[in-house]
Amino acid sequence: MTRFIDVQDLARLANRKGLATCMVEMAEYIRQDYLRWHAFEKCPRMANHSKDGVIELMPVSDASLYAFKYVNGHPKNTRHGLPTVMAFGALSDVDSGLPLLLSEMTLATAIRTAATSALAARYLARDDSRSMALIGNGSQSEFQAIAFKMLLGIDEIRLYDIDPAATAKLVANLSGRPGLKLIVAHSVADAVRGADIVTTVTADKAYATILTPDMIEPGMHLNAVGGDCPGKTELHRDIVERARVIVEYEPQSRIEGEIQQMPGDSPVTEFWQVVAGVAKGRESVEQVTLFDSVGFALEDYSALRYVLDTARALGIGREIELVPTLEDPKDLYALLQPRVVEMRPAQQADSACA
Ligand code: NAD
Repeated sequence: MTRFIDVQDLARLANRKGLATCMVEMAEYIRQDYLRWHAFEKCPRMANHSKDGVIELMPVSDASLYAFKYVNGHPKNTRHGLPTVMAFGALSDVDSGLPLLLSEMTLATAIRTAATSALAARYLARDDSRSMALIGNGSQSEFQAIAFKMLLGIDEIRLYDIDPAATAKLVANLSGRPGLKLIVAHSVADAVRGADIVTTVTADKAYATILTPDMIEPGMHLNAVGGDCPGKTELHRDIVERARVIVEYEPQSRIEGEIQQMPGDSPVTEFWQVVAGVAKGRESVEQVTLFDSVGFALEDYSALRYVLDTARALGIGREIELVPTLEDPKDLYALLQPRVVEMRPAQQADSACA
């Protein structure tokens, strides 16, 4: 049987654990899996593009588990009452191919993306970082804010979105959180000025320049989350050229990340190298660091592993017959036979009369 986790189950799981605890625990699952980088069979995700969006499949496996995620990115969706990003995924046993988990992953993606961002910032941001500009206040934004509060101790967040209603929503959602000061800015430049960390998490299928070189101050850490597709970037090219760039998986990031604007041999460091201590994260206090996030399948593998372990521990979700359970594994046809129901004597009498 396969454990099935729908959106309400995932919300229940996050609420039972506490979202902040979920972030911290999932970040640790992600860190552990990045430490096993060479154990994984990896490939850039497969993307099917259309005029206004993209649908992607993200597979990855090691010797024991196989994971995939289906995810879309349609920035215009919110105008029609749908989220920009929607996702689901599965985790299977490699030895048999049996699916162990089928899960919603829209919420899980927001948690894993924020956990990955904050984990990366732990290696890349200055130790004394306390403030963050958060540009783009849509679905991902609250998760980013909470992850940076939990994993880095960020206590001041400066918000900006071209849609004031999105910022008002974020403020309403997070205003009750103790120890988090929210400041509404009037422009990107206003939000970014003096911030230790800048997170861009906007949605627009365009070569956008949310950040321009004049906004960047020495020692900043940039967490660029929203540019994750060919023709969809957030940073001016000169910022990318001058920063120390950390990517998740170079073959995929060359296609989808901010570095798609750069020559194919521009210097980058893969995140696993930093986690493993093979490469430095930040090299000096003045250096500008850039986590060029696009979202890699390994993070979804970690997220699915976390969801399955936690759902089992808390008794959340239900077992479904996603693939057949057969008495004779060679007799698939038996599933199509009418079930033999033993009739009680009264029923037999009724049917005799009919
Ligand atoms: P969303 O549509 O809910 O929110 C995006 C927000 O960006 C909107 O409120 C919009 O008004 C704002 N925005 C657009 N252009 C802007 C601009 N020029 N300046 C300021 N704000 C602007 O989308 P979401 O689910 O929050 O996702 C945001 C982005 O993150 C998407 O592009 C998505 O593809 C990407 N994403 C990346 C990862 C990753 O792992 N890197 C994971 C999930 C989502």
